[in-house]
Amino acid sequence: MLANSAQPRHDWSPEQVQALFELPFNDLLFQAQTVHRQHFDPNAVQVSTLLSIKTGACPEDCKYCPQSAHNCTDLDAERLMKVKQVLKEAQAAKEKGATRFCMGAAWSSPRPKDMPFVVDMIKGVKDMGLEACMTLGMLDQDQADSLADAGLDYYNHNLDTSAEFYGSIITTRTYQDRLDTLQNVRNSGMKVCCGGILGMGEELKDRIGLLITLANMPDHPESVPINMLVKVEGTPLDAVDDLEPFDFVRTIAVARILMPKSHVRLSAGRQRMNEQMQALCFMAGANSIFYGEKLLTTDNPEADSDRQLFNKLGINPEQRHGASDEAHEQVLMQQIEDHKNESMFYDASA
Ligand code: SF4
Repeated sequence: MLANSAQPRHDWSPEQVQALFELPFNDLLFQAQTVHRQHFDPNAVQVSTLLSIKTGACPEDCKYCPQSAHNCTDLDAERLMKVKQVLKEAQAAKEKGATRFCMGAAWSSPRPKDMPFVVDMIKGVKDMGLEACMTLGMLDQDQADSLADAGLDYYNHNLDTSAEFYGSIITTRTYQDRLDTLQNVRNSGMKVCCGGILGMGEELKDRIGLLITLANMPDHPESVPINMLVKVEGTPLDAVDDLEPFDFVRTIAVARILMPKSHVRLSAGRQRMNEQMQALCFMAGANSIFYGEKLLTTDNPEADSDRQLFNKLGINPEQRHGASDEAHEQVLMQQIEDHKNESMFYDASA
């Protein structure tokens, strides 16, 4: 089956997606690369960053997550950062060339008393001329509307896995809770960032289920993070079997084919991937990465390694509108060279 249509579809069947997974590896990558080139510059990769504004002590029981209060890790919990401190970090990120500032909090959902601070953070970040993104857990419609009214551009909320496997990973909130939050985000007019985690012990049918749920939404998420589980000691998944790396690449390729206009993000777990594996993921259609020393609470490849890999592969950071090629490349390369920016993290989860 060829998946060479330029237009996104929303009617994928499990059999059709399984057939993609079962293609010979080279055929699958060729199809994914063909689709990718219809919608994106094949040599451009978006570079994203995230600040943890509230770390650890999360009441949810996500089995992969070192921030869950149910898991016994040595992570130090931190209260919600002060608005002033967050804006200082945003300003620093802007001065290093960031165009989007993402903020993550380890909450089940924001409490009413948190909302004014969160809204002030969004407004402050927007006043700097940056795009704003947040991941705060579940949102009801009023909360989503409040964030949208404050100017929030993107909201991240991952499905993690298939509906069928979900109960083996999280018991404190349902798959439908997550879908409801995503719908509330869509209703509010914000853009959606939503993906999952591979290597949690799921089967192929679960990876198919996750991708079909995303791809058959009326609107595809604008951003689709695909994470490789980072096994953290003290979490229930710390000894789960490793995922076959080619299965990870295949999932990236199928995500690209199913959601041809979305940014497919190579997210948590990149530290375990060598350069060749990452290059295969780019070939398969991944066109976004997080960079920095940490992804919220787990290690991420050192930023300088990313710059070197980009140079080896002839990849350029994706440009923002209105910036000249040279100026934009300079600021982003400066960002990537900065090893000491410890404020940039990524939440693989919330
Ligand atoms: S993944 Fe998110 S919601 Fe789940 S425990 Fe971690 S911070 Fe909480």
